[in-house]
Amino acid sequence: MARRLKGQSSVETRSAILDLIRSSGRVSRIELSERSGLTEATISKIVRSLLLDGLVVEAGYGDSTGGKRPVLLALNTESRYAVGISLDAEHIVYVIADVTGRPVHTMTAAGTGRSAPPDVIKRVAKESQRLLRKQGIADADLVGIGIAGAGRLDRAGGVLRSSKKASEWEDFAVADALHDASGLPVIFDNDANCAALGEFWSGRVPATRDFATAYMASGIGAGIVINGDVYRGASSNVGEISHMTLDINGPECWCGSRGCLEVLATPAAVVQRAQQDAALSERLGIAGDTIDVRHAFALIGRAAMSGDTAAVALIEQSAEYLAKALLSVVNMLDIDTLFLGGPGFAEAGQIYLRTARDELAAHAFMRTVHPVSVEMSAVGPEAAALGAASVVLHSHLTPHHAATRSRRKPPSVTIEAVPLASA
Ligand SMILES: [Zn+2]
Repeated sequence: MARRLKGQSSVETRSAILDLIRSSGRVSRIELSERSGLTEATISKIVRSLLLDGLVVEAGYGDSTGGKRPVLLALNTESRYAVGISLDAEHIVYVIADVTGRPVHTMTAAGTGRSAPPDVIKRVAKESQRLLRKQGIADADLVGIGIAGAGRLDRAGGVLRSSKKASEWEDFAVADALHDASGLPVIFDNDANCAALGEFWSGRVPATRDFATAYMASGIGAGIVINGDVYRGASSNVGEISHMTLDINGPECWCGSRGCLEVLATPAAVVQRAQQDAALSERLGIAGDTIDVRHAFALIGRAAMSGDTAAVALIEQSAEYLAKALLSVVNMLDIDTLFLGGPGFAEAGQIYLRTARDELAAHAFMRTVHPVSVEMSAVGPEAAALGAASVVLHSHLTPHHAATRSRRKPPSVTIEAVPLASA
């Protein structure tokens, strides 16, 4: 149902109307009035200012309900852009997204590797600028850069804290550094949050739907969207299902606990187990310490999909642990929609999907009240980068979401939730 917008400030109202146009695809002024509870005169005034700013365009006519056919409105896809970046040891993915969250250009570059964080950020700023120039996007049309990263985040300070094997990144203010290097507004967020918001912003999920996205890259996280915004908890570290305990007597985890999903189901855990099987690791060429985990995991996934019994067993075991973790997420939040996204699902995603569906159909607490749908993310392996761009668009273009969370920390690092471009 539409949220009633009376009583909000004019900036919030305008932002909410823009969000309604975005989530509707194409919509008439009368429909906006019906869905928002605002008068047609107020809607006309807001729409006029959105048209003047070039954010919205007239896009054909709707069906007549007796009188003239109504003019339909849609977001102007060429009006604003955002850059989304996912930082990872093995790859850095860049996506330029238009205002609807659709990718217009994607590029993959060398990962952060062992380079010092300031050097990585300088390179990222240069590569972003080069990409924008190549696409002919003017600075004035760019709302900012979103960065998706793994690990423990201090989103208010833009800091990535003590994630595994990332000691150099500890206490390094990623967002501030990139802002200084690029001169652009920068928002830093958890990769799973980004993936979830990307799903929402691209219009695949209705604005009224609560859902979660399980994101698997090196680790596994869950981004949770409630009522059209990412649920952030106290410090934006919600959804760390990687450290959900699934076996209290299980192997030690780097986080200090035992039997976490991280040590049972992540690509590194699967690769480690595969290497204990001499025949399998020789068959796939993944023996040895120097093997690239993502590459080895992809080989195991591919072998599983082609029916290699040992590989199938390893992937199914990982999928079963993940499905159990998702069962707890669903039981805790009573959500009815889950997506699986990220590079970890690129090869054997269908096994994870089938296992999660079976688990939830059999054991979700609310299964007799409503089904729980599990789908692969439509976005693909670059879900976090594209989602990071969506986080920027969401924060700049529809700041009313942030305005409704007055008890929380400000949602951005170097910028405030700004009004739409000045008229
Ligand atoms: Zn852990």
